[in-house]
Amino acid sequence: MTDNELICSRCGGVILPDQLGGGPVARPPMHAQVSICFAVLRARVAELEAADQWHPVSEPPDKDGEHLIYRQPDLKYQPNARPDAAMMDVADYHAGRTNAKGELNEWSHNSFFMPITHWRPLPTPP
Ligand SMILES: [Zn+2]
Repeated sequence: MTDNELICSRCGGVILPDQLGGGPVARPPMHAQVSICFAVLRARVAELEAADQWHPVSEPPDKDGEHLIYRQPDLKYQPNARPDAAMMDVADYHAGRTNAKGELNEWSHNSFFMPITHWRPLPTPP
């Protein structure tokens, strides 16, 4: 966004030059058609939903760093684990990181007993 962009007072989207509504009454800038506002809002909702998703650990993050993780007991190692033993935590992801034995160990504090199953970006702190 630049300083001279017009922002729609109805949807908050940028108004391109050919999208500016006009009329005899002075009013805050807005898109000429409400259908443009709907398209802007649908795109924004899709963007927010995509950013707010849990991702399976089989699809690693594209950025190294801390992420919110979800881990569940592996029933192979903990056959009597309770379903509510699952937990969320913060772990550091580093693509290609190996441990002292040379084994791939991209997530900090992952474990056989309580493997990370999903991750998501950290929420914004308060
Ligand atoms: Zn609009």
